[in-house]
Amino acid sequence: MNVPALSQFRRIVFFTGAGLSAESGIPTYRGAGGLWNAYNYEDYACQRAFDSDPDKVWDFHDVRRAFVASKEPNLAHHIIADIQKQFSETVVITQNIDGMHQRALTADVVELHGSLWRVRCEPERQVRENFDLPIARKCACGAYLRPDIVWFEDQLDHRVVRRAREALEECDLLVSVGTSAVVYPAADLPRIAAKGGAVTIEVNLEDTPMSPLYMHRLRGKASEILTQLTASYT
Ligand code: NAD
Repeated sequence: MNVPALSQFRRIVFFTGAGLSAESGIPTYRGAGGLWNAYNYEDYACQRAFDSDPDKVWDFHDVRRAFVASKEPNLAHHIIADIQKQFSETVVITQNIDGMHQRALTADVVELHGSLWRVRCEPERQVRENFDLPIARKCACGAYLRPDIVWFEDQLDHRVVRRAREALEECDLLVSVGTSAVVYPAADLPRIAAKGGAVTIEVNLEDTPMSPLYMHRLRGKASEILTQLTASYT
């Protein structure tokens, strides 16, 4: 593999997407077996759907939570956590909402699209972790809790985006793993690292619209490519 050894870098950013969790058995967004081939997002994953029928939206999210809870982080999640142990300035920015990075013991994950494992009480402006299966859908104040997920048509949390941008501005290596790079504004963020002069690596099964941005385009399953990539630091 003709890429520089990880030990040459001090500030590594992993930018991850649904493809990273595919080997855990969690379907990606698009393509064969993709989640939104089976469900219409307008019925389950947008604020309008929640406002008109919160229980229907919660039924869907309860199923997703139980499904994800039944799966395990895969080798690629563990390799990334291990790299962060070796190189303490490593930052993980993910579009995933499944909490798998944290379960693999990665610290301080920047979750651009929120988490299946947090809920918001909008009237109280409170966000809390919640791992209950099934979940009590109402807050003690009586209001429906809302999954703390960036649904279709929602804005990203500007504080989370700022953290991501800062990490990308400061990194000297960016490794993007398993993202189709079509969901904006997240898809655009890796440009920041490229513009700042970082070495850039894309790990995916196939080319994406962002592939031309990357110096190294490594094709294959995340676990296999990351295994090869880390052979250099031990
Ligand atoms: P996506 O589904 O659009 O694309 C997945 C990408 O991963 C594709 O480019 C595919 O070629 C690649 N891929 C599939 N299997 C792979 C493997 N084993 N190794 C390497 N690459 C592989 O995913 P995305 O770009 O993250 O889309 C963004 C949205 O998907 C986010 O908003 C996210 O919230 C949502 N999503 C998250 C999850 C999750 O949390 N696990 C699951 C489905 C969708």
